[in-house]
Amino acid sequence: MKLTILGCHSATPTASTHPTAQILEIKGHLFLIDCGEGTQMQLRKYRVKFSRIRHIFISHLHGDHFFGLPGLISTFLLLGREAELHIYGPKGIKQSILLLLKLGKAYTNYPLYFHELEETTPQLIYEDDKVTVETIPLKHRVYTNGFLFKEKLEDRKLNVDAARELNIDLSYYNKIKQGFDVENRDGKLISNKDITFDPPAPKSYAYCSDTEYNPEMVPQIEGATFLYHESTFLDEHYHLAEKTKHSTAKEAAVIARKANVGTLILGHYSGRYGKLELFRKEAQEVFDNVELAEDGKSFQF
Ligand SMILES: [Zn+2]
Repeated sequence: MKLTILGCHSATPTASTHPTAQILEIKGHLFLIDCGEGTQMQLRKYRVKFSRIRHIFISHLHGDHFFGLPGLISTFLLLGREAELHIYGPKGIKQSILLLLKLGKAYTNYPLYFHELEETTPQLIYEDDKVTVETIPLKHRVYTNGFLFKEKLEDRKLNVDAARELNIDLSYYNKIKQGFDVENRDGKLISNKDITFDPPAPKSYAYCSDTEYNPEMVPQIEGATFLYHESTFLDEHYHLAEKTKHSTAKEAAVIARKANVGTLILGHYSGRYGKLELFRKEAQEVFDNVELAEDGKSFQF
């Protein structure tokens, strides 16, 4: 998995900071997560092959997470895209995009599918043979979801040397990878664990922006490899976090600690702070493994 931060600042774009958008590369997919204004320029700047994006996940309909979407859809049209595009987001997203296209008498030459979300419990919204995506219900001023991206457990790895030594016929090799015990040529039952290696532990990425402190998400994101959790404010402004239904760096770290995640990535910073290191420092008082999102930064895991 590789996560590239295209933008990680809250509210208004500036000359040097971009609103929220991320690219997650996972098992051959390029998933776009949120699409703040200017996302398509960021995709070009960081050389993301954006024609490969087939699925876009929008957390909520505040402008700093969504105003880049009409532009990107329109650019795909101008570039002659033919591949399907799937958009997952709150109810109303379809109407808003289609109205803009209609007013400009523009229609996509590629199939555009909307998957509108309105449930307030976790939903499985995407699945193939390698990956699942679930919503993480969040608490914000408007209906908002985070997203949990999970690799599926791979087949067990065959230990060819052990299988040969134990005199097992080649025709059983697929069954062995699927976890079955098999008989060898002498009619003896061989236990699967004696002829296989464990597959790598599946990785997961939990994306949580925007939300007030919300421990209800903890059981769902338990043990995630990486957690991105918004930290719009520092603790000194916790009253602003409460008022605007955002989180502080400290609250993000408490969630990371409770959920026992691998690494916490902070982002969605308010523009009022000079140094981002202040966010890391505050979070590390609660949870050790803290990274700071920065526009253009990548995380490999
Ligand atoms: Zn918001």
